[in-house]
Amino acid sequence: MSSDTSEVPDLTVHSQPTVSPEACPALVLNADFRPLSYYPLSLWSWQDTIKAVFLDRVNIVSHYERTVRSPSFEMQLPSVVSLKTYIKSSRHPAFTRFNVFLRDRFVCQYCGAHEELTFDHVIPRSKGGTTTWENVVAACSACNLRKGDRLPADVHMFPARDPFQPTVNDLHHNGRHFPPNYLHESWMDYLYWDSVLEP
Ligand SMILES: [Zn+2]
Repeated sequence: MSSDTSEVPDLTVHSQPTVSPEACPALVLNADFRPLSYYPLSLWSWQDTIKAVFLDRVNIVSHYERTVRSPSFEMQLPSVVSLKTYIKSSRHPAFTRFNVFLRDRFVCQYCGAHEELTFDHVIPRSKGGTTTWENVVAACSACNLRKGDRLPADVHMFPARDPFQPTVNDLHHNGRHFPPNYLHESWMDYLYWDSVLEP
């Protein structure tokens, strides 16, 4: 590993007043040219990106106008790179609050609200409900409060979709609907936004 990194040139940033290299992250694509991750979007710093180029782990797909140089060398900063070796993502994403929201597309599963999201145990914990993919849904505070400690049938509140364990692909698919704020134009060909952005 240490012999690898010795081949990476020591790059200094030459002065271009307009764009900081810190504002030039690279979009990282898997070997199949799909982003490694949609949400968060897989981005590398320019330093990590150049290191990977010199270690021959990625191909440069597109680049910025911005250049960096060392005494012996100058290169344009990559804006899109693709891995040379395909990385198989784990089939089961982590059970986190965020991923539950992403599975449920940041929408309350009872009323469709987008605001004040929290999560709800469909079968309350007090009635034996577990904290698992199959029993937890995104819910707004109002619905959460209204449902309280009761069963869906008791309050006639049923989730829009029965909660389930999503695959990484499910979350990737949903992640496309929630793009980050900043997108470089060269990334567009690799991101398949199929929803209208809301202001
Ligand atoms: Zn609600």
